[in-house]
Amino acid sequence: MKITAITTEEYKWPRHKPISNGLHTYTHSGLALVKIETDEGLTGIGLGGGGGIGRATVERLKGDLIGEDPIDVERLWHTMWVPKLLGRRGLTTRAISAIDIGLWDIRAKVAGLPLYKLLGGFRDRVPTYIAGGYYEEGKGLKELQREMVENVELGARAVKMKVGAVAMAEDVARVRAVREAIGPDVKLLVDANCAYRAYQAVQFARRIEEYDPFWFEEPIAPDDLEGHRRLVEATTIPIATGENEYTRYGFRDLIERGGVAILNADAKVLGGVTEFMKVVALAQARDLDIAPHGSQDIHVHLVAAIANGLILEFYRDTVDPMWGRIYRHTLRLNDDGTVSPPDVPGIGADPNYEALAPYRVA
Ligand SMILES: [Mg+2]
Repeated sequence: MKITAITTEEYKWPRHKPISNGLHTYTHSGLALVKIETDEGLTGIGLGGGGGIGRATVERLKGDLIGEDPIDVERLWHTMWVPKLLGRRGLTTRAISAIDIGLWDIRAKVAGLPLYKLLGGFRDRVPTYIAGGYYEEGKGLKELQREMVENVELGARAVKMKVGAVAMAEDVARVRAVREAIGPDVKLLVDANCAYRAYQAVQFARRIEEYDPFWFEEPIAPDDLEGHRRLVEATTIPIATGENEYTRYGFRDLIERGGVAILNADAKVLGGVTEFMKVVALAQARDLDIAPHGSQDIHVHLVAAIANGLILEFYRDTVDPMWGRIYRHTLRLNDDGTVSPPDVPGIGADPNYEALAPYRVA
């Protein structure tokens, strides 16, 4: 089999309302794709690779990939990685990730297997949390509590909320309000999106320990590895991070120097499925857990494939007006709060082009 063409597509649409986390506000949502076509008629859909730098990187790399066998993921990853001015960190590594995901989609389609079965097939129902709890205009404690209770009523056994954008006392009150609303048995995850300095994160962690957070995510800037270590030693709350970390080398340093308990690896960021599985093995050697960041459509397969997959991040309809119309198949919560990967060959994230068409930007 040979790769015959590689193209990119990008779609963008406004959210119902801007949403904010500890540091950033998001007004739009969207979808970026890398399509890999083959001489046997199979097409791989790679997720990501958008924006000017992403598209330019795909354009630059495709010359080295066209004519090659898409099944040879280890060789093609190496081909993309070795030119030393591309990759290693940032948007170019994200573009490599998108291509690699598309290659794995082809690989699983050729095998006639859902990706999670091809990679390891550890389980077909993965524990899941509903992500939300953003700061929004007009959203007070009552509205936050209502959102979290609604998530539990949908079947979620774990929910996540944002912190870090307001005064610490106010965030402590928000965490307390959510714990009171969901009761003691639902897992409560808290995410600062790097809003704190290490000394502040220590202070905040101690103030919310009594509300029994399941984890404290991205408390501080990703590059402050020693700060992570100090925080890990100062609190009983497990520290989770990694959504802004790249490749096995980055995770090696995060594990060795940062000492964090839970790795929020993201296949769309760190180098694709090929590199994700190496991070998984690195974590397994230390008995550490993987809880991927975002992008449920690819990550449901990766959590289902591996023995140290802790929990899947899941976004529901309220955060995206196109929810349910982006792909032909939409992931939904099972009755027990888990999510199952689609039982079709490949990743099963087939874009719903008719619904997306009005939002195409590139
Ligand atoms: Mg996060």
